[in-house]
Amino acid sequence: MAQITLDGIGHAYGGDPKTEADYALKPIHHVWEAGKAYALLGPSGCGKTTLLNIISGLVIPSHGRLLFGDRDVTRLPTERRNIAQVFQFPVIYDTMTVAENLAFPLVNRGVARPRIDARVGEIAAMLDLTADLKRRARGLTADAKQKISLGRGLVRSDVSAVLFDEPLTVIDPALKWELRSKLKAVHRALDLLMIYVTHDQVEALTFADKVVVMNDGRAVQIGTPAELFERPEHTFVGYFIGSPGMNLLRGEVAGAEARVDGHVLPLGAAYPALPQGMAVTLGIRPDYATLTAGDGLPVTVTRVDDLGRKRLAHASLGGGQSVVATVPHGMGVETGPARLRLDPGKIHVYVDERRVAGR
Ligand code: ATP
Repeated sequence: MAQITLDGIGHAYGGDPKTEADYALKPIHHVWEAGKAYALLGPSGCGKTTLLNIISGLVIPSHGRLLFGDRDVTRLPTERRNIAQVFQFPVIYDTMTVAENLAFPLVNRGVARPRIDARVGEIAAMLDLTADLKRRARGLTADAKQKISLGRGLVRSDVSAVLFDEPLTVIDPALKWELRSKLKAVHRALDLLMIYVTHDQVEALTFADKVVVMNDGRAVQIGTPAELFERPEHTFVGYFIGSPGMNLLRGEVAGAEARVDGHVLPLGAAYPALPQGMAVTLGIRPDYATLTAGDGLPVTVTRVDDLGRKRLAHASLGGGQSVVATVPHGMGVETGPARLRLDPGKIHVYVDERRVAGR
C-alpha cells in the first residue's frame, strides 16, 4: 500500500483554460497518506466528483501528474489502477447471493477459496450482513443492497484506495447514523486509504481523519475535524463547517482593536501588526458568542431559536450586522435589548477571506 500524490493536478473540461474560472478543479498539490481516511466536502459543483474521478481514472486531468507511490498513473485506465469504488446507488448482481456478491472482486482476481471465505466472513460481520449471506440479493431492501455495495468496495485488502461517492445517499436516515460510525470503525480495522465524497458535513467529520474542504474548484483547507472547527483558515470554511456556521463580521482595525458597527472588539496581542483602518472580517463561532446577564456589548435580540438542547439568539449589533449567539442554560431571554459576550480568545481575524496567522 502506498500514498497517492496529486502533483499539480487540475482539470478544465473544455481544455486549454484561459483564466482560473475555466478550471472545474484548480491545480492542487496534495499527498493522500496510506491507511488514512479522507473526506472531500463541499457544496454542489465545487469539484469533488471531478477530483474523485481523476483518482479513479474516469477523468484524465488536463494538468499535472497523479502518482500511486512512485508510479505515474495519470493516463492509466481505471481497470489497471487497483482502485475499489462505491457509488451512490447499489452496484450488485441481483441473481447472486450476498456471499457471492461480496466474494466477486476476489474471485475475479483468482484469490484462493479459503481466503475468500475468511475475508467475506470478516466483511459481512463488520457490516451486519452475516445472517443474510446465503440470501439472494434480489429480495433485499435498498439499504441492504447498498451495504453489499459497501462490502464489495471493502473486500479487497490489496487496493491502492477505496473511493466512496456519496455512498449513504439512498440509505434510510435512521440507519445512516449507524452506518456512518460503522464505516469509521471499518476503516480503523482495515487500514486502507479511503477517500469519501460528500456534501454532508456530519458524514465527512464522522468518517475522516482529514477533511478536504472544497469551494469553487479549489481545496480551501485540508485539516482534521477539530482544526476545521477551531481554526478555519478561510471564511468559507468557518461558515460551511458548523451548524449554524461561524459568525462573520465586517469591521476595520483601530489600534489593537477592531471597530464593528460602532462597537469596539479587542483583537488581542496575537494581532499586533495590522495596519490602522484595514478592512477585516472577524469570525466567531456561535458557541463562543453568548448572551450574558453581566457586562457585554449592547445588542438587540431579534429572534430566539429553541433547539431543545440549546437556544440560539439572533442579536443585532445595530449597524446592519448580527450575531448568532448561544443563550446560557437557565437564562431568560426575550426579543429586545440584551448584552453579548464574545470570547476574545476565540475571535479569528480574516483579511481577504484568509485567516491572519495569530493564534
Ligand atoms: P455535485 O456534489 O453536484 O456532484 P461536485 O462537487 O461533485 O458536485 P463536479 O461534479 O466535480 O462537482 O463539478 C465541478 C464543475 O465541473 C461544475 O461546474 C460542473 O458543472 C462541471 N462539470 C462536471 N462534469 C462535467 C463534464 N463532464 N463536462 C463539463 N463540465 C462538467
